[in-house]
Amino acid sequence: MINIAIDGPVGAGKSTVARECAKRLGIIYVDTGAMYRSCALFCIRSNVEISPENEAEIEKLLNERMKLEITLVDGTQHVILNGEDVSEAIRENSVSMAASAVSALASVRKFLLDRQRDLAASNSVIMDGRDIGTVILPDADLKIFITAAPEVRARRRYEELKAKGSEITFDEVLADVNKRDYNDTHRKESPLMQAPDAVLLDTSELDFTQTVEKVIGLVNGLGKL
Ligand code: C5P
Repeated sequence: MINIAIDGPVGAGKSTVARECAKRLGIIYVDTGAMYRSCALFCIRSNVEISPENEAEIEKLLNERMKLEITLVDGTQHVILNGEDVSEAIRENSVSMAASAVSALASVRKFLLDRQRDLAASNSVIMDGRDIGTVILPDADLKIFITAAPEVRARRRYEELKAKGSEITFDEVLADVNKRDYNDTHRKESPLMQAPDAVLLDTSELDFTQTVEKVIGLVNGLGKL
């Protein structure tokens, strides 16, 4: 069994890198952001405004009416919300901001904590998020904090959204990235930060393949697989 924790800000390349590494290593990739996005989507669809004032209502909504299943289809994680595969719907830009807001609520983090730990306890995983190395898997075999300059991250995210046909401008994406960075690092509950024992990987000057090679090199260095 091996547990690898990958944390970092939006657009640092965590998910694409983690997905590829999982495939090459023959282990499971767990995208925890997708779980927060699913909670946010459920709040949106239930017409519940995401704010600290509504935390009790949101907690009740999630606990009583939300059924979240994580399944693997051809090695890719799918999230099933009350029977519907929402893997695509949760990628909408509006859901990104809502996920950032919902993830600041302690009860939502608590709702997801055990599910994330259970997945890591019963499988070899590479799990990405914001608090994996600091809170969810403090004893992970390897922790990596992936980051890059905000402009580089916004550029990547912009290209990704454009490719999907979005009309969004680069400046709007950069503003969103900065806002989410601020929210994620300043919240009281499990703020985004590098664990003291995490390896820092700055991908500003690295392309996808180089980043994957670095991570694979770190994993191989453990001598566990
Ligand atoms: O990684 P992704 O951009 O899909 O995550 C969406 C949002 O969920 C992030 O902006 C962050 O606020 C939140 N998140 C979190 N903790 C995690 C994963 C995601 O707070 N472990």
